[in-house]
Amino acid sequence: MDVYCTTCGEPWDHFHLWQDAIHETGLSDQDIEAWLKLPSNGRLTPYYRSAFTSAGYTFGKTMMNVTRCPACPPEATPDADKLQAKQLIEDMLGDDHDGIVATFNDHRL
Ligand SMILES: [Zn+2]
Repeated sequence: MDVYCTTCGEPWDHFHLWQDAIHETGLSDQDIEAWLKLPSNGRLTPYYRSAFTSAGYTFGKTMMNVTRCPACPPEATPDADKLQAKQLIEDMLGDDHDGIVATFNDHRL
């Protein structure tokens, strides 16, 4: 299922975010292998978050909440209403990533 960038609306397949986006970061194979073994709620440590930021991705609390992506125009800013709605849904659903993706889709976020 796709999730959408809060800033530019670009669709991102959530499996791509889980499995492939890490390869865009320039991290070493060793770091990537370690990352792929982490539990889903442990994948956005400051170290990995900054690697994703270098590759153009900014996430909310979870990787399902794409705040900025590599497709974003440089000067674009996130849609404030969508940003807030996504944060509320993440707060309610915690680590339930499938639930977050489904709820984002239900609300066209
Ligand atoms: Zn974007």
